[in-house]
Amino acid sequence: MLAERAGEVAALLTSATSSTASTLRLLGEAYAARQGAGGTFTATARSLLNASVVGIGVAEIAGGDLVVRAGLGASPAAGDRLAGQRAELARRALRAPGLVSALVQNAATHRLTLVLALARQSRTVVWQDSTVDPSRPAARTPGSPYRELDVRLYRSPDARPDQLVLTTTAADLSPSPSVDRRTLTVGAEQWLMLTAAVRPLGGSSAALVSWTILAAGIAAAVLTALIVEAFARRQQYAVALVQQRTSELARTVTELETARAAADAANHSKSEFLSRMSHELRTPLNAVLGFAQLLDLGELTDEQREAVNLILKGGNHLLQLINDVLDISRIETGDLPLSLEAVELDLLLVDVLDLVRPLAAQRRIHLIGDRRSSCCEYVFADRQRLKQILLNLLSNGIKYNQEGGSLAVSCERSSATRLRIRVSDTGPGIPAEQVGLLFVPFERLGAGRTEVEGVGIGLALSRQLARAMGGTLDVDTTLGQGSTFWIELALVEAPVERYERLTAGTTPAPIQPPPEDRHVVLYIEDNLANLKLVQNLLGRRPNIKIIPAMQGRLGLELAREHHPALVLLDLHLPDIGGDQVLQELRDDPATTSIPVVILSADATPGQVQRLLSAGATAYLTKPFDVRELLGILDTVTTQ
Ligand code: ADP
Repeated sequence: MLAERAGEVAALLTSATSSTASTLRLLGEAYAARQGAGGTFTATARSLLNASVVGIGVAEIAGGDLVVRAGLGASPAAGDRLAGQRAELARRALRAPGLVSALVQNAATHRLTLVLALARQSRTVVWQDSTVDPSRPAARTPGSPYRELDVRLYRSPDARPDQLVLTTTAADLSPSPSVDRRTLTVGAEQWLMLTAAVRPLGGSSAALVSWTILAAGIAAAVLTALIVEAFARRQQYAVALVQQRTSELARTVTELETARAAADAANHSKSEFLSRMSHELRTPLNAVLGFAQLLDLGELTDEQREAVNLILKGGNHLLQLINDVLDISRIETGDLPLSLEAVELDLLLVDVLDLVRPLAAQRRIHLIGDRRSSCCEYVFADRQRLKQILLNLLSNGIKYNQEGGSLAVSCERSSATRLRIRVSDTGPGIPAEQVGLLFVPFERLGAGRTEVEGVGIGLALSRQLARAMGGTLDVDTTLGQGSTFWIELALVEAPVERYERLTAGTTPAPIQPPPEDRHVVLYIEDNLANLKLVQNLLGRRPNIKIIPAMQGRLGLELAREHHPALVLLDLHLPDIGGDQVLQELRDDPATTSIPVVILSADATPGQVQRLLSAGATAYLTKPFDVRELLGILDTVTTQ
């Protein structure tokens, strides 16, 4: 009877340990499937921790060490190395065919550690720590069918006191005929179980109980397997969902890119069409305006003169509109030539204010220029285009102002490197919901219904121009109080200062030769800052006399009159283009042999090549290399 009962207990224990082994295996697989610590493993392991199971972990061989990859409860932290008995046990598990175990005792704790390698010779082990206390006999459950048994379990094939895992009695169960002694196979090891009867044993209902417990053990293992699988499935689903979304996203991005490419192409052909149309319109319009001007010179009746004036006014208006449309489309195709250089702002503002003064006087608008030095700066811009923007902002500030109002221009540094030029009026202001429409071409925000003339393209073009110059144009406005349109541009060093800084201490004081020995250099340039720079530069060559011309036609006249040793030519001039000046110099026998050096901010290779083929001697891009220019001068003047 004792042997029968002991057999039942042994089966129970074996079932419990094999259920632990399968749980650990499943945990290990959950970890391996995640290729790292994470969701499935952690959630399952956490559900297994209880009063007796106090720690669970996974470790992997890495560079010869066993490194903890995940640990829950009383376990080393992820990233730690396993050391001591646990490391030894883990190494043993890596070689063993199943669970290995050890009793780890110290003053405070007494633990049974079970370790399982995922497969023999694998790199991963999973362990579980349970608290055991063999010094205190395990309590017997009153209704238990085993209450009449005393059991002692050793984690070794011998009854060694230091290997006692659990006991239900304080008595010594030394092997004797009245004690059942049997070895149990627990994983890769043999354990010893001693069983004795406390009192005469009755009939057994225990078999049923033991099978129930065995079944419960299996159920627990299956349950764990199900949990693991559910987590794994959820994870697979999540991964599949992410993949699906990623490929959907990739498809959307491709579609968007195709759509954008199509829109870009359409936009480009629109701009090209506009650009061609504008050219086509300009040719007949030139004829209309030209003949109208001829008529205007002749004898006309009052009625005829009025008609001619109307033709001229309408024609000029149309020409301006065509030019603006052409500019917008050129900016969009990137074909707008810009001559970006240091522009002396206060001089430009004086020019612009002079131009709008008559219009302001007509409407009794008080013009206020900035008298402080905040506008005495150099900004990086195309001089003509900046002038165009400011003219547009100022004339709007007059057109849309109240009669007798005021219009102020001021400047302030918006950062260490940028200057903000503000044009503030005392007009009606713009409703917040319409501010977004201000810069839309042909949008007049209801001004079309008033007497104020315009087509609604000025602000759109101005903003595009500002952007093409690396700047910004925007507005701050308060309904009923007025608007401040502002343009922000990069600040640059004054060219003369820059030149002096670069050449400090390198040039000796000039000695002036007699005037008849001096070579004349004609510099055709409308930007005063550049003119000053070159004048300053050529001042270091005492044998050179510089004659400035701020317009193309004047430059041609001066060339014929003075026959200079060299012409320095800017391409963006207020009246005619620099390329036309070059052409006329070459075509005229009186000037054809004068060397012409182009100084331009436009550095496109096509442009350089075109002008060199048209007869320019050299092409220097601004900001030009001072030494190169002096070198050219020296060559010309020593010939
Ligand atoms: P235009 O003056 O030819 O109509 P713009 O592009 O210069 O075209 O201006 C667009 C519209 O913005 C104008 O029609 C006007 O309604 C409004 N606007 C421009 N400047 C001001 C301003 N300073 N104050 C109030 N409204 C303005």
